[in-house]
Amino acid sequence: MTSHQTQSGQAPTRACDLCQGSSSEALLSKNGADYRRCLACGFVFGDYSQEEWDQRNADAFEASLEEYAAKSYTPAKQRRYGRRLSVLEPYRGGGNLLEIGSNVGGFLHAARSAGWSPVGIEPVAACAEYARSERGLQVHACTLEVAELPSDHFDALYSNAVFEHLWSPTRTLAEATRVLRPGGVVFLDTVNYDSYTRRFLEEKWKLYDPAMHACIYTPDTLKRLCMGAGLTPLWMRSHRVHLRPNAAPRLGRIARRVEELVKLPFGLAARWRLRGESIQVLACK
Ligand SMILES: [Zn+2]
Repeated sequence: MTSHQTQSGQAPTRACDLCQGSSSEALLSKNGADYRRCLACGFVFGDYSQEEWDQRNADAFEASLEEYAAKSYTPAKQRRYGRRLSVLEPYRGGGNLLEIGSNVGGFLHAARSAGWSPVGIEPVAACAEYARSERGLQVHACTLEVAELPSDHFDALYSNAVFEHLWSPTRTLAEATRVLRPGGVVFLDTVNYDSYTRRFLEEKWKLYDPAMHACIYTPDTLKRLCMGAGLTPLWMRSHRVHLRPNAAPRLGRIARRVEELVKLPFGLAARWRLRGESIQVLACK
C-alpha cells in the first residue's frame, strides 16, 4: 500500500456535495484515489465521478458476501442489533422501519424479531438476494433514490456504515426524509474525520481511505447534512480510539496493558468531545 500527499493546485473533478461549493483543497492521495476538503464547509469527499465510484463500490461488496452472511446472524450480533433497536423504540408508531444499506439483512432480521415491519434497501444484488431468498426479508435491490417508496411512511430509518460509501449523501438523505413520517427519526452511524485515531495515524488509519470511503464526516458536517435535509439532530455520540494501525504487529501482554492505560483517557475524551472513530446521530423529521 502506498500513499502520498496530493499536489496542491490540482483542479477538483467535482463540487462539494454538502454545500455545492467549488473551492476545495487536496487532502490525501491513497490507493489510487484522492480526498479533497471543501474550503467553505469542511466536508471531506472523494474526488471522482459517480460512475467510477459505483463500480469500485460494487466490486468490493460482491467479494464480501460470504463473510457478511456468516457474521450478521450470530446471537451476539443479533443482541447488538437489538440494543440499536431500543434507541428507535420510542418512535415505533406503526412499526415501519427502513434500513438503507441492509447488506445481507442481519439488522432487518433483528427488527422483525422485535416486532417491527422492516424493509431494506441494498443496491448490491447478491446481498439483497441472500436476504430475500435465504432469510425471507423484504429488500429492494436498488438505491433508495429509485425505490419509489411511499412518502411520510416510515417511523424509523436506520443506516450503519453506509453514509461514508455514498457519492451524494445529500441526495440520499433528502429522499430518506421524504419517506419518513413527520415525527419519525433517522439513525446514522458513520466514520469520524475529527477522530483522535485519524489525528494519530493520518493515512495509516484503515478507514481514512478515498478508495474505500467516498466521504468522511465531522460532527459539524454530519449535523449540517441532517439540517440540510430538513431534519433536527436530537443527539450525537462517538466512540472508539486506536493508537496503532490495524495491520501493526501484535503486542505482548505487558505492552497491551500499557496501551490500554494510555488509551483510557482518549477513549473517555472521545465520547465527551465527539472524537471517536465512529459518530452517530439521531435526527427527527
Ligand atoms: Zn462544502
